[in-house]
Amino acid sequence: MLRTHTCGELRLDHVNQEVTLAGWVQRVRNKGGLIWVDLRDRYGMTQLIFEEDSSEKALLEKAAELGREFVVQTTGKVIERSAKNDKIPTGSIEIKVTTLEVLNAAKVPPFKIEDETDGGEELRMKYRYLDLRRNVIREKLQLRHKMMQETRKYMDAQDFIEVETPVLIKSTPEGARDFVVPSRTNAGEFYALPQSPQTFKQLLMVSGFDRYFQIVKCFRDEDLRADRQPEFTQIDCEMSFVTQEDILNTFEGLTKHLFSQVKGVELEEVKRMTYADAMKYYGNDKPDLRFDMKFVELNELAQGKGFSIFDGAELVVGICAKGAAEYTRKQLDALTEWVKRPQIGAKGMIYAKYNADGTIKSSVDKFYSADDLQDWADAFGASQGDLMLILSGDADKVRKQLSELRLKMGEELGLRDRTIFKPLWVMDFPLLEWDEETSRFHAMHHPFTSPKKEDMALLDTDPGAVRANAYDLVINGVEIGGGSIRIHDRATQQLMFKHLGFTEEEAQKQFGFLMEAFEYGAPPHGGIAFGFDRLCAIFGGSDSIRDYIAFPKNNSGRDVMIDSPSSIADEQLKELSIQLAIKK
Ligand code: ASP
Repeated sequence: MLRTHTCGELRLDHVNQEVTLAGWVQRVRNKGGLIWVDLRDRYGMTQLIFEEDSSEKALLEKAAELGREFVVQTTGKVIERSAKNDKIPTGSIEIKVTTLEVLNAAKVPPFKIEDETDGGEELRMKYRYLDLRRNVIREKLQLRHKMMQETRKYMDAQDFIEVETPVLIKSTPEGARDFVVPSRTNAGEFYALPQSPQTFKQLLMVSGFDRYFQIVKCFRDEDLRADRQPEFTQIDCEMSFVTQEDILNTFEGLTKHLFSQVKGVELEEVKRMTYADAMKYYGNDKPDLRFDMKFVELNELAQGKGFSIFDGAELVVGICAKGAAEYTRKQLDALTEWVKRPQIGAKGMIYAKYNADGTIKSSVDKFYSADDLQDWADAFGASQGDLMLILSGDADKVRKQLSELRLKMGEELGLRDRTIFKPLWVMDFPLLEWDEETSRFHAMHHPFTSPKKEDMALLDTDPGAVRANAYDLVINGVEIGGGSIRIHDRATQQLMFKHLGFTEEEAQKQFGFLMEAFEYGAPPHGGIAFGFDRLCAIFGGSDSIRDYIAFPKNNSGRDVMIDSPSSIADEQLKELSIQLAIKK
């Protein structure tokens, strides 16, 4: 080793020892005859001292020439510092240097390699290897590492076998576009990158693997957002001979294990809610349960009193923000403007304040008596000091709008505390989802999800009402994982494809291999996949998954550091039998 210790290791106990350290120069403070250098590595920072009286002149000159991020090796004696720094673990000692060797000089970095940096996102991504030197980023990747290790520990202890599945495959329909890879040796044909290993893990169940998991890269060609990347990581799992209950318990176990081992948090019981209730009470299939503010429907109380906007609405629904009656006119106007923005799309917002003196003041006093408003307050369970906010319109739309308003109020009132974790299983998702654009049903989860037996009869009469054996794990309003009990017989799988608008030939061409496998003794099975990057971000208390990925892509799916995607040489295109339809 080029060092005897790391830069985070030395303490008063080491005083008088001769040590050799290697690392990066964080900072040089030159006071003429006295130079201090902060030397940094992954483990911490150690102060080096060069003094004119004791150090050789040449050594002092060498130290004076050091620049930020130079890589050096140094030997010296550990001494006690006269002015101690209790902010860093090595703050009681420093190294009185006897030799200094520059292992590699460095250009001035394009941004400060410090917790608070002056580098913008794009610049930091271009020089991501420098960004990764910053403690705050490195700690996030260390968290990720710990999460991976603990996941493997738990899964192994539960008898799961980690099996790798191929990356060059054929499309796995998870609702997004595939990334495709041209095949040189099979001209005109393409592989697809897996959106998930879904069909492979099911095949492993047919093979008798019984309990499979994999920490695996998945690829989806979707529009990007803060919590999406074109390539992302899943903890992918599948089990045989299980009921839904077994799966929920096993993965509630994994979630609790991770929280306790990685964060030291003993998670409470994971609550359960049906999809129907989630939509009815939170307008959202991933409700944030860190705060209450449940939806209250007011059709009966608010309609028929001459207020035409409510009278003409399919749904009148509101939330009660506890203790927010103090909101000023200006704040309420700002909220109204906020819900009217095109991203939210509400036509307007009605409020009713339950004042401290017991009176209720609303923006529609003209239409409602004090008794009417008291009835509203009772329906909301509102008391003095509370603020009721009400939206109305088309039921589906208004639920979405109110869901956004609920989250905003939660934010404004400080109810979305990042140190509190409220996990929830959302269950009984619809099997199918109507897609306006293509005018047909899509699988809400994926086509391999089994319908609830008792709803099978509805498949022909009211397909939208069929519920699936499907579940999502939600934490603090973020979908962390999802899965289902699968179909495991050919006939049902075929029926499912039929309802999804596949002809028999299409189904056979795309998924014949799976349906055939089902004819060779497929056990009942089911599984789940966790979005690993999101899970890390939740653990780290952050909204963006990018910080938890060593080399992420930007908002347009580009890696600005290696400059990808990029064009390829004509020669390469020719080899792949590809002709571009655009001019380069
Ligand atoms: N393959 C599914 C997904 O990626 C998860 C599952 O059903 O196990 O969402």
